[in-house]
Amino acid sequence: MKQFIITGAALLLLTQCNPPKEEKTEEMEDQPVAFELSNIDSSVMPCDNFYTYAIGSWQKENPVPATEGRWMSFNILAENNREKIQGILDESLKAENPEKGSYLQLIQDFYKSALDTVGRNENGLKTLQTYISAIQSIENLEQLNQQFSALKKVRIGSPVSFYVSRDAENSEQYITYASQSGMTLGDKSYYLKEDAKFEEIRTAYVTHINDIFHMAGIEAENPGQRVLDLETKIAQISWDRKDLRDADKTYNKMAVAEFDGTLSNLNVRGILDGLDLTKADTIVVRTISFYEDLDKLMMEVSIDDWKNYMTWKVFSGWSSSISDEFEKKHFDFFSTTMRGVKEMRPRKERILRTVDGSLSEPLGKLFVEKYFPEESKKYMSELIENLRGAYKQSIMNLTWMGDSTKEKALKKLESFTYKIGYPDKWEDYSELEISSDNYVQNLINISLFGFKEMSEKLGEPVDKDEWHMAPQMVNAYYSPSGNEIVFPAGILQPPFFHPSFDDAINYGGIGGVIGHEFTHGFDDQGAKYDWNGNKQNWWTDEDRERFKALTQQLADQYSQYEVLPGEYVNGQLTLGENIADLGGITLSYMALEKVMESKEDPMIDGFTWQQRFFLGWANVWKGNITEETLRNRILTDPHSPAEQRVLGPLANVPQFEEAFGCTGKPMVKSDSTRIKIW
Ligand SMILES: [Zn+2]
Repeated sequence: MKQFIITGAALLLLTQCNPPKEEKTEEMEDQPVAFELSNIDSSVMPCDNFYTYAIGSWQKENPVPATEGRWMSFNILAENNREKIQGILDESLKAENPEKGSYLQLIQDFYKSALDTVGRNENGLKTLQTYISAIQSIENLEQLNQQFSALKKVRIGSPVSFYVSRDAENSEQYITYASQSGMTLGDKSYYLKEDAKFEEIRTAYVTHINDIFHMAGIEAENPGQRVLDLETKIAQISWDRKDLRDADKTYNKMAVAEFDGTLSNLNVRGILDGLDLTKADTIVVRTISFYEDLDKLMMEVSIDDWKNYMTWKVFSGWSSSISDEFEKKHFDFFSTTMRGVKEMRPRKERILRTVDGSLSEPLGKLFVEKYFPEESKKYMSELIENLRGAYKQSIMNLTWMGDSTKEKALKKLESFTYKIGYPDKWEDYSELEISSDNYVQNLINISLFGFKEMSEKLGEPVDKDEWHMAPQMVNAYYSPSGNEIVFPAGILQPPFFHPSFDDAINYGGIGGVIGHEFTHGFDDQGAKYDWNGNKQNWWTDEDRERFKALTQQLADQYSQYEVLPGEYVNGQLTLGENIADLGGITLSYMALEKVMESKEDPMIDGFTWQQRFFLGWANVWKGNITEETLRNRILTDPHSPAEQRVLGPLANVPQFEEAFGCTGKPMVKSDSTRIKIW
């Protein structure tokens, strides 16, 4: 659903969302195996490269399928969840006349419309024609402003992005945010980097746009080059991703009238009204300089070039939905050229993904009813409380933090709330209009419904029961404004977790994930929020300086990882996630240590529980990735690549060195260079 995408911007996810594919692994069978010995590559020493040691044989056996950009435990589990969703979809077709507006009716009719390939191919582009015509009829800046609003509601992008979310400095209310947008290729580097690889992509991009215009029968002179030129100008005024992470730099609250007063060509009031945000009187501008520069660009760029660009945005947003021909073309550029994916998934799987992504909450409800064991909640609550206990201990023992900051940190830790499995309260979708015979119109309606749901929040009390992720997703998140950690049913399965697994594997898997999410509350940005979820400084100056110095060391460590020739992890972009990974396994290990105090070491497959804990962590990050996807992700993903998510934290954890006898070995740091933050 749209809401998951929009409000997701303010959340810290465990991993970037990514669409995957089919294949069964043994972990997915009824009797799950906690850790497969056959994953191990014993030709590699654990202290030389623990990642390759722990899962290297799996990597050799599991190349990236031709339909994927990467292939990880996350994808495999998501694929498995999706097979279950497929069963629910097939089952839905059998229902006779489900009640209008019920989850079942929406699912059944939307699925039917998606299966109607002939109807889609015939009507898809026609259904969008009204938006294309509206763009073609733009004559002046006023009308351009209007279209920025109107088209946003149906997921047609523009350089402006206004949305409603919780106010970072007052978590009890919603507020409107303004952020930058408009780069179809997703990152500045694709436009600005002078490098053969990126130049190749730019050339292919121009050709792709020209082809799309041709296919759509739209007459235009050099549409591709003109789009690239305009988007390059947008890239030049856009902020870097590392700055977009900065909770302080991106918080500039002002009256809408004041913001509007600084801009001559952008009509903020008009855009907000067009988005039905008439109630918005204050706004948080995330990227002030971007808006100032965009305001100039509005005039510098001709109306004709803006129309050309907006027409392209219709297709960049909708090509994959309107017909087989457009979908294939879109895939060739955005999946093959950009991410190295060789083949399209079969139509049936693509439909499944769209239905799952569009009606994710209704499907999620049916998914958990059928597949989520309620007893997992109890086990998870216990794990979470054990982790909280370990965190408390750790904060009290920190040598770099003074007592008064510790007191506040503990207060924040105590205030964390959590959600497990699925929402207690399901959203009402009864006003969503879905028919069995117009797929693209259904997608438009879903988009409008999601936008309305979001915009209507403004002025309403904050809904603390709301979930920002669907229950079937293989992911987890921390919300700074809610000061809460959330674990959907989708991830509470092998290889992350199973009630039958030994403690070491569960703590190395889901335990590390829980610790990761807790630590987001104390990462370089999360630590700027207090126990009520308000951005407010609760640190002493000295402690804050010491914290900054420690996190800088961690950023420097990751910036040294060369993942492709000449291309490195961005230590600043990935800092929050790396702090969370390091904190995650440190705390989960502490919690496990406590559990094991009263137990005997079961010594499974010749490994101690300490060793199995680290094998468990490596196991959840096993994966392969194409070169193109890796290049794309190191630019855009705030998470480090999987291998570094294992090697980076372990280098700093003395218990790993001890468990595998790695003292003095290349993988681990010496006592004097080791980083301990939490
Ligand atoms: Zn995270």
